[in-house]
Amino acid sequence: MTPVARAPDTLVLHPASTLAVHEGRVASFDLEGRLLTYFEDGVLYKRALDSSVHARTRERGRRRRFRVPRAKAREVFGRAREVAAARLEGARGEARSRLLRILEWTPERLLAEKERFDRVYKPIAILPPDRYFTVVLQATEGCTWNRCTFCSFYSGRPFSAKTPEAFAEHARAVRDFLGKNALLRRDVFLADGNALALSASRLLPVLEAARATFPGRPVYGFIDLYSGERREEVFWRALKEAGLKGVYVGMETGHDPLLAWLHKPGSQKELVGFVRTLKAAGLFVGLIVMVGAGGERYREPHFEDTLAALRAMPLAPRDLVFLSPFVEDPRSVYRERREAEGIRPLSEAEIEAELNRFAGAIRALGLRAARYDIREFLY
Ligand code: SF4
Repeated sequence: MTPVARAPDTLVLHPASTLAVHEGRVASFDLEGRLLTYFEDGVLYKRALDSSVHARTRERGRRRRFRVPRAKAREVFGRAREVAAARLEGARGEARSRLLRILEWTPERLLAEKERFDRVYKPIAILPPDRYFTVVLQATEGCTWNRCTFCSFYSGRPFSAKTPEAFAEHARAVRDFLGKNALLRRDVFLADGNALALSASRLLPVLEAARATFPGRPVYGFIDLYSGERREEVFWRALKEAGLKGVYVGMETGHDPLLAWLHKPGSQKELVGFVRTLKAAGLFVGLIVMVGAGGERYREPHFEDTLAALRAMPLAPRDLVFLSPFVEDPRSVYRERREAEGIRPLSEAEIEAELNRFAGAIRALGLRAARYDIREFLY
């Protein structure tokens, strides 16, 4: 058992959530009464919207993350519910009604959220780390390219787009599914991997439906360089006027030979031009760099050329460069190719050192850098 500092037993009502503490166990719930997080014995459990439970703890100084089996998830739901039940005695008014709402969520009912989730969403593979608490609306499924050697987010899922009618219906279904929980989520993210690759005539009704169903929320989305750089500034301006606030681009690297080796289309020159267009249209830009990709062979040129690309972009201080520690999928073409060519992968410690080197150099350019660990993703 890990010793933890005991918080006093308490109940905190936040405008968008409830926090209950009892005997060192801490549980938070959304406004519908569904569990958000549970902490006990040094382990933090987070419930995703599909009721899968992801745990995080530290063992011998190292961070450990794992997805808990369904039986353990049921136990966690029960333990968290006990925390709420312990706060019921003496609770009055708003506090009491919130606790009673929480207690309606038996572990079985909470587990059944998986079926509700699956009726509303296709699997959500990934989001940028500053958008985990967003409203995801799936305008498309899969990725238009789907051939980068390292990426398995959408493997086996051909690209398809919803009709405007199907999208509007999907947005309403998401709103019903989230319920009051939508209050916690202050923006909209258009998924999947390449939703912004659609034409303006497909995207404008999508943005309109997103804004009509979730009014007042700025909209963000992913786009790959190949699809994005062919669009003119006027295209991006039109999207901005329709509610698009920002765009996330998987830059991966500014080193063209590495990009080609990863089988990702584009070049440093095209990327810089694309970011110029996005900035001229007044959009926020989030760029994702894969730290450690290409292993030892590409370590130095990846660093140098990525920095050179960032230096050439008219990024604003509020834009963000995400540094993503590279995680090699053992079943990927990337692994096969790396092994066939005898490239040594960087160790975890080397990737961490690279990440710090990148972060320091990016901050020295006056830009923001943030860590983006795809293993932490949860929606
Ligand atoms: S473009 Fe992005 S989502 Fe598509 S395969 Fe490449 S990395 Fe994956």
